[in-house]
Amino acid sequence: MSKTKFVDFRAVKAAITMEQLLQHYGILDQFKRTGDSLNGPCPIHKGSNPTQFRVSTTKNLWNCFSDCEHGGNTLDFIVKMEKCSVHAAALKAIEWFNLDPEAMAASDDKAEPAEPKASAPASKPATKPAAKGESSGDDGRPQGLPNAPLKFRLDKLERTHPYLTEQRGLTPETIVDFGIGFCSKGMMADRIAIPIHNAKGEVVAYAGRFIGAPPEGVPKYKLPPGFRKSQELFNIDRAIKEPADLPLVIVEGFFDAMKLHQHGCRKVVALMGATLSTAQEELIRQHTNRHSHIIVMLDENEAGQAGREDIACRLSKFCFVRVHQFSQPDMEPEHLTTEEVQQLMEGVL
Ligand SMILES: [Zn+2]
Repeated sequence: MSKTKFVDFRAVKAAITMEQLLQHYGILDQFKRTGDSLNGPCPIHKGSNPTQFRVSTTKNLWNCFSDCEHGGNTLDFIVKMEKCSVHAAALKAIEWFNLDPEAMAASDDKAEPAEPKASAPASKPATKPAAKGESSGDDGRPQGLPNAPLKFRLDKLERTHPYLTEQRGLTPETIVDFGIGFCSKGMMADRIAIPIHNAKGEVVAYAGRFIGAPPEGVPKYKLPPGFRKSQELFNIDRAIKEPADLPLVIVEGFFDAMKLHQHGCRKVVALMGATLSTAQEELIRQHTNRHSHIIVMLDENEAGQAGREDIACRLSKFCFVRVHQFSQPDMEPEHLTTEEVQQLMEGVL
Protein backbone atom coordinates (compact mmCIF):
# COMPACT_ATOMS: atom_id res chain seq x y z
CA MET A 1 0.00 0.00 0.00
CA SER A 2 2.82 2.36 0.81
CA LYS A 3 3.73 2.45 -2.86
CA THR A 4 0.20 3.16 -4.02
CA LYS A 5 0.06 6.60 -5.45
CA PHE A 6 -3.66 7.22 -5.28
CA VAL A 7 -5.98 6.55 -2.41
CA ASP A 8 -9.73 6.70 -2.59
CA PHE A 9 -10.33 9.04 0.35
CA ARG A 10 -14.04 8.50 0.16
CA ALA A 11 -13.63 4.74 0.57
CA VAL A 12 -11.31 5.21 3.57
CA LYS A 13 -13.71 7.68 5.16
CA ALA A 14 -16.58 5.25 4.72
CA ALA A 15 -14.59 2.38 6.18
CA ILE A 16 -13.77 3.93 9.54
CA THR A 17 -15.81 5.51 12.33
CA MET A 18 -15.10 8.30 14.78
CA GLU A 19 -15.63 5.81 17.61
CA GLN A 20 -12.89 3.59 16.22
CA LEU A 21 -10.59 6.58 16.06
CA LEU A 22 -11.28 7.61 19.66
CA GLN A 23 -10.63 3.99 20.62
CA HIS A 24 -7.41 3.99 18.62
CA TYR A 25 -6.18 7.03 20.53
CA GLY A 26 -7.24 5.41 23.81
CA ILE A 27 -9.62 8.22 24.74
CA LEU A 28 -13.04 6.74 24.06
CA ASP A 29 -13.66 6.25 27.78
CA GLN A 30 -13.28 10.00 28.39
CA PHE A 31 -16.39 10.56 26.30
CA LYS A 32 -19.98 10.68 27.45
CA ARG A 33 -22.65 9.28 25.19
CA THR A 34 -25.93 11.11 24.66
CA GLY A 35 -28.02 9.63 21.88
CA ASP A 36 -26.09 10.07 18.68
CA SER A 37 -23.34 12.18 20.19
CA LEU A 38 -20.19 11.61 22.16
CA ASN A 39 -18.98 14.55 24.22
CA GLY A 40 -15.54 14.90 25.70
CA PRO A 41 -12.42 17.05 25.99
CA CYS A 42 -10.83 18.07 22.71
CA PRO A 43 -7.89 15.74 21.95
CA ILE A 44 -6.63 18.06 19.21
CA HIS A 45 -5.91 21.14 21.27
CA LYS A 46 -5.80 18.99 24.42
CA GLY A 47 -8.54 20.90 26.18
CA SER A 48 -9.96 19.90 29.53
CA ASN A 49 -13.58 20.99 29.17
CA PRO A 50 -15.59 17.77 28.84
CA THR A 51 -18.28 19.26 26.61
CA GLN A 52 -16.30 21.12 23.98
CA PHE A 53 -15.54 18.30 21.61
CA ARG A 54 -18.56 16.65 20.06
CA VAL A 55 -18.79 13.65 17.81
CA SER A 56 -21.79 12.51 15.85
CA THR A 57 -21.56 8.72 15.81
CA THR A 58 -24.05 8.34 12.97
CA LYS A 59 -22.62 11.05 10.71
CA ASN A 60 -19.02 10.38 11.77
CA LEU A 61 -18.33 14.06 12.09
CA TRP A 62 -16.58 15.91 14.90
CA ASN A 63 -16.50 19.47 16.11
CA CYS A 64 -14.40 21.38 18.61
CA PHE A 65 -16.29 24.39 19.91
CA SER A 66 -13.28 25.73 21.74
CA ASP A 67 -9.72 26.58 20.63
CA CYS A 68 -9.94 24.71 17.35
CA GLU A 69 -13.35 26.14 16.34
CA HIS A 70 -13.18 23.49 13.73
CA GLY A 71 -14.84 20.30 12.69
CA GLY A 72 -14.72 17.65 10.04
CA ASN A 73 -14.87 13.99 9.12
CA THR A 74 -12.77 11.02 10.17
CA LEU A 75 -9.85 11.83 7.88
CA ASP A 76 -9.84 15.47 8.96
CA PHE A 77 -9.55 14.21 12.52
CA ILE A 78 -6.45 12.14 11.74
CA VAL A 79 -5.00 15.11 9.83
CA LYS A 80 -5.40 17.28 12.94
CA MET A 81 -4.16 14.65 15.40
CA GLU A 82 -1.15 13.66 13.35
CA LYS A 83 -0.52 17.07 11.76
CA CYS A 84 -0.24 15.36 8.39
CA SER A 85 -1.77 15.56 4.91
CA VAL A 86 -5.06 13.90 4.00
CA HIS A 87 -3.12 11.39 1.96
CA ALA A 88 -0.90 10.45 4.89
CA ALA A 89 -3.98 10.26 7.10
CA ALA A 90 -5.67 7.84 4.72
CA LEU A 91 -2.56 5.65 4.65
CA LYS A 92 -2.45 5.64 8.44
CA ALA A 93 -6.11 4.65 8.63
CA ILE A 94 -5.52 1.78 6.21
CA GLU A 95 -2.65 0.56 8.37
CA TRP A 96 -4.31 1.07 11.79
CA PHE A 97 -7.59 -0.57 10.87
CA ASN A 98 -6.29 -3.24 8.54
CA LEU A 99 -8.32 -1.98 5.61
CA ASP A 100 -8.04 -3.81 2.31
CA PRO A 101 -5.47 -1.81 0.30
CA GLU A 102 -6.99 -2.90 -2.97
CA ALA A 103 -10.44 -1.69 -2.00
CA MET A 104 -8.96 1.62 -0.84
CA ALA A 105 -7.00 2.25 -4.03
CA ALA A 106 -8.48 4.75 -6.40
CA SER A 107 -8.88 3.77 -10.01
CA ASP A 108 -7.56 6.35 -12.45
CA ASP A 109 -10.89 7.96 -13.22
CA LYS A 110 -11.79 8.71 -9.60
CA ALA A 111 -8.31 9.28 -8.33
CA GLU A 112 -7.63 12.10 -5.95
CA PRO A 113 -4.08 13.37 -6.23
CA ALA A 114 -1.85 12.51 -3.30
CA GLU A 115 -0.69 16.10 -2.99
CA PRO A 116 -1.06 18.48 -0.04
CA LYS A 117 -3.55 20.40 -2.17
CA ALA A 118 -6.11 17.74 -1.35
CA SER A 119 -6.10 18.81 2.27
CA ALA A 120 -7.15 22.38 1.55
CA PRO A 121 -10.92 21.88 1.77
CA ALA A 122 -10.50 19.78 4.90
CA SER A 123 -8.45 22.34 6.75
CA LYS A 124 -10.86 25.25 6.42
CA PRO A 125 -14.40 23.94 6.58
CA ALA A 126 -15.60 27.07 8.34
CA THR A 127 -15.15 29.16 5.23
CA LYS A 128 -16.77 26.73 2.84
CA PRO A 129 -20.28 25.44 2.64
CA ALA A 130 -20.58 21.78 3.54
CA ALA A 131 -20.52 19.88 0.30
CA LYS A 132 -20.16 16.34 -0.93
CA GLY A 133 -19.81 14.92 2.55
CA GLU A 134 -16.70 16.97 3.15
CA SER A 135 -15.95 18.68 6.43
CA SER A 136 -18.79 20.68 7.80
CA GLY A 137 -19.82 22.48 10.90
CA ASP A 138 -22.54 19.93 11.23
CA ASP A 139 -23.89 19.59 14.76
CA GLY A 140 -26.40 22.34 14.72
CA ARG A 141 -24.03 25.16 15.53
CA PRO A 142 -22.52 27.66 13.13
CA GLN A 143 -18.77 27.81 13.10
CA GLY A 144 -17.24 30.77 14.86
CA LEU A 145 -16.15 33.30 12.31
CA PRO A 146 -15.23 36.61 13.91
CA ASN A 147 -17.29 39.73 13.25
CA ALA A 148 -15.48 41.96 10.76
CA PRO A 149 -14.41 45.41 11.97
CA LEU A 150 -16.66 48.23 10.71
CA LYS A 151 -15.36 50.54 8.03
CA PHE A 152 -17.36 53.52 9.29
CA ARG A 153 -18.07 55.40 12.49
CA LEU A 154 -21.33 56.94 13.56
CA ASP A 155 -20.48 60.55 14.17
CA LYS A 156 -22.55 63.49 15.36
CA LEU A 157 -23.96 61.42 18.21
CA GLU A 158 -25.69 63.60 20.77
CA ARG A 159 -23.76 63.09 24.00
CA THR A 160 -25.97 65.14 26.27
CA HIS A 161 -29.25 63.36 25.68
CA PRO A 162 -31.28 63.35 28.94
CA TYR A 163 -31.92 59.62 28.62
CA LEU A 164 -28.24 59.04 29.30
CA THR A 165 -27.68 61.62 31.99
CA GLU A 166 -31.02 61.70 33.80
CA GLN A 167 -32.51 58.28 33.27
CA ARG A 168 -29.36 56.17 33.27
CA GLY A 169 -27.27 58.39 35.53
CA LEU A 170 -24.20 58.46 33.31
CA THR A 171 -21.67 61.26 33.65
CA PRO A 172 -20.42 63.16 30.58
CA GLU A 173 -17.02 61.49 31.12
CA THR A 174 -18.53 58.01 30.91
CA ILE A 175 -20.60 58.92 27.85
CA VAL A 176 -17.55 60.21 26.00
CA ASP A 177 -15.37 57.40 27.30
CA PHE A 178 -17.69 54.73 25.85
CA GLY A 179 -18.39 56.76 22.73
CA ILE A 180 -22.16 56.47 23.09
CA GLY A 181 -24.82 58.99 22.16
CA PHE A 182 -28.21 59.62 20.66
CA CYS A 183 -28.34 58.86 16.94
CA SER A 184 -30.73 60.91 14.82
CA LYS A 185 -30.46 59.16 11.48
CA GLY A 186 -29.67 55.89 9.72
CA MET A 187 -30.20 52.37 10.96
CA MET A 188 -29.91 53.40 14.61
CA ALA A 189 -32.08 56.49 14.21
CA ASP A 190 -33.83 57.61 17.41
CA ARG A 191 -31.80 55.20 19.48
CA ILE A 192 -28.76 55.42 21.71
CA ALA A 193 -25.84 54.07 19.67
CA ILE A 194 -23.34 52.00 21.66
CA PRO A 195 -20.12 50.92 19.89
CA ILE A 196 -19.01 47.34 20.54
CA HIS A 197 -15.27 46.69 20.25
CA ASN A 198 -13.46 43.40 19.81
CA ALA A 199 -10.48 42.50 22.00
CA LYS A 200 -8.18 44.39 19.62
CA GLY A 201 -10.20 47.55 20.15
CA GLU A 202 -11.78 47.59 16.68
CA VAL A 203 -15.44 48.60 16.44
CA VAL A 204 -17.38 45.57 15.17
CA ALA A 205 -20.93 46.88 15.62
CA TYR A 206 -23.18 49.51 17.10
CA ALA A 207 -26.01 48.44 19.34
CA GLY A 208 -29.04 50.74 19.30
CA ARG A 209 -30.95 51.14 22.58
CA PHE A 210 -34.54 52.29 22.35
CA ILE A 211 -35.18 55.35 24.50
CA GLY A 212 -37.26 54.16 27.42
CA ALA A 213 -39.57 51.14 27.27
CA PRO A 214 -40.20 50.02 23.68
CA PRO A 215 -43.77 49.38 22.49
CA GLU A 216 -44.97 45.86 21.73
CA GLY A 217 -42.93 44.23 18.94
CA VAL A 218 -40.11 46.79 18.97
CA PRO A 219 -36.80 45.43 20.27
CA LYS A 220 -35.11 47.15 23.19
CA TYR A 221 -31.81 46.69 21.41
CA LYS A 222 -31.20 46.72 17.71
CA LEU A 223 -28.09 45.04 16.34
CA PRO A 224 -26.85 45.07 12.74
CA PRO A 225 -28.03 42.14 10.63
CA GLY A 226 -25.48 39.35 10.58
CA PHE A 227 -23.70 40.58 13.68
CA ARG A 228 -23.10 37.79 16.16
CA LYS A 229 -22.95 39.12 19.68
CA SER A 230 -22.01 35.66 20.96
CA GLN A 231 -18.53 36.31 19.53
CA GLU A 232 -17.95 39.46 21.56
CA LEU A 233 -17.74 40.73 25.12
CA PHE A 234 -18.64 44.37 25.57
CA ASN A 235 -15.66 46.37 26.95
CA ILE A 236 -13.23 43.43 26.67
CA ASP A 237 -10.69 45.63 24.87
CA ARG A 238 -10.32 47.87 27.89
CA ALA A 239 -10.91 45.32 30.63
CA ILE A 240 -7.86 43.34 29.51
CA LYS A 241 -5.64 46.39 29.96
CA GLU A 242 -6.47 46.57 33.67
CA PRO A 243 -4.04 45.08 36.23
CA ALA A 244 -3.95 41.28 36.34
CA ASP A 245 -4.55 41.14 40.09
CA LEU A 246 -7.91 42.89 39.84
CA PRO A 247 -10.99 40.71 39.55
CA LEU A 248 -12.80 40.63 36.21
CA VAL A 249 -16.47 41.41 36.71
CA ILE A 250 -18.98 39.86 34.31
CA VAL A 251 -22.36 41.55 33.95
CA GLU A 252 -25.27 41.21 31.54
CA GLY A 253 -25.88 44.60 30.01
CA PHE A 254 -24.12 47.56 28.42
CA PHE A 255 -25.41 49.93 31.09
CA ASP A 256 -24.34 47.61 33.92
CA ALA A 257 -20.82 47.68 32.52
CA MET A 258 -20.82 51.44 31.95
CA LYS A 259 -22.15 52.18 35.43
CA LEU A 260 -19.66 49.91 37.18
CA HIS A 261 -16.90 51.52 35.12
CA GLN A 262 -18.13 54.92 36.22
CA HIS A 263 -17.95 53.77 39.85
CA GLY A 264 -14.29 52.82 39.41
CA CYS A 265 -14.74 49.15 38.62
CA ARG A 266 -13.11 49.29 35.21
CA LYS A 267 -12.28 45.67 34.71
CA VAL A 268 -15.79 44.76 33.64
CA VAL A 269 -17.28 43.03 30.60
CA ALA A 270 -20.91 42.58 29.54
CA LEU A 271 -22.27 39.39 28.01
CA MET A 272 -25.07 41.28 26.24
CA GLY A 273 -27.41 38.69 27.71
CA ALA A 274 -27.64 36.23 30.59
CA THR A 275 -25.72 33.38 28.97
CA LEU A 276 -22.07 32.81 28.18
CA SER A 277 -21.31 31.55 24.69
CA THR A 278 -18.41 29.22 23.95
CA ALA A 279 -16.63 32.03 22.11
CA GLN A 280 -17.06 34.34 25.09
CA GLU A 281 -15.78 31.67 27.44
CA GLU A 282 -12.78 31.28 25.18
CA LEU A 283 -12.14 35.04 25.19
CA ILE A 284 -12.14 35.03 28.98
CA ARG A 285 -9.88 32.01 29.07
CA GLN A 286 -7.40 33.72 26.76
CA HIS A 287 -7.16 36.74 29.02
CA THR A 288 -7.03 35.03 32.41
CA ASN A 289 -4.90 32.42 34.11
CA ARG A 290 -5.34 30.09 37.05
CA HIS A 291 -4.58 32.93 39.47
CA SER A 292 -7.27 35.21 38.04
CA HIS A 293 -10.41 36.14 39.94
CA ILE A 294 -13.78 36.54 38.29
CA ILE A 295 -16.95 37.93 39.79
CA VAL A 296 -20.15 36.86 38.06
CA MET A 297 -22.76 39.51 38.73
CA LEU A 298 -25.91 38.97 36.71
CA ASP A 299 -29.35 40.44 37.31
CA GLU A 300 -31.29 39.04 40.24
CA ASN A 301 -34.03 37.43 38.17
CA GLU A 302 -34.75 34.00 36.75
CA ALA A 303 -32.54 34.36 33.67
CA GLY A 304 -29.67 35.79 35.68
CA GLN A 305 -29.89 33.12 38.34
CA ALA A 306 -29.89 30.33 35.78
CA GLY A 307 -27.11 31.96 33.77
CA ARG A 308 -24.76 32.56 36.67
CA GLU A 309 -24.84 28.93 37.82
CA ASP A 310 -23.81 27.71 34.40
CA ILE A 311 -21.19 30.43 33.95
CA ALA A 312 -19.62 29.89 37.37
CA CYS A 313 -19.43 26.17 36.72
CA ARG A 314 -17.68 26.63 33.39
CA LEU A 315 -15.27 29.37 34.38
CA SER A 316 -14.25 27.77 37.66
CA LYS A 317 -12.45 25.12 35.62
CA PHE A 318 -9.69 27.60 34.86
CA CYS A 319 -9.81 30.40 37.44
CA PHE A 320 -11.31 31.56 40.75
CA VAL A 321 -14.96 32.46 40.42
CA ARG A 322 -17.22 34.23 42.87
CA VAL A 323 -20.93 34.56 42.21
CA HIS A 324 -22.48 37.73 43.50
CA GLN A 325 -26.07 37.43 44.64
CA PHE A 326 -28.18 40.47 45.36
CA SER A 327 -30.42 40.36 48.42
CA GLN A 328 -33.21 42.18 46.58
CA PRO A 329 -35.14 40.60 43.71
CA ASP A 330 -34.79 42.30 40.32
CA MET A 331 -31.65 44.08 41.46
CA GLU A 332 -29.12 44.83 38.70
CA PRO A 333 -25.47 45.90 38.88
CA GLU A 334 -26.50 49.17 37.26
CA HIS A 335 -28.38 50.09 40.45
CA LEU A 336 -25.35 49.84 42.74
CA THR A 337 -23.94 52.98 44.33
CA THR A 338 -20.27 53.91 44.22
CA GLU A 339 -19.88 52.80 47.85
CA GLU A 340 -21.51 49.45 47.21
CA VAL A 341 -19.29 48.80 44.20
CA GLN A 342 -16.18 49.65 46.20
CA GLN A 343 -17.20 47.40 49.08
CA LEU A 344 -17.81 44.63 46.62
CA MET A 345 -14.38 44.96 45.07
CA GLU A 346 -12.68 45.06 48.47
CA GLY A 347 -14.33 41.81 49.40
CA VAL A 348 -12.23 40.11 46.78
CA LEU A 349 -8.89 41.84 46.99
ZN1 LIG B 1 -10.09 21.75 20.07
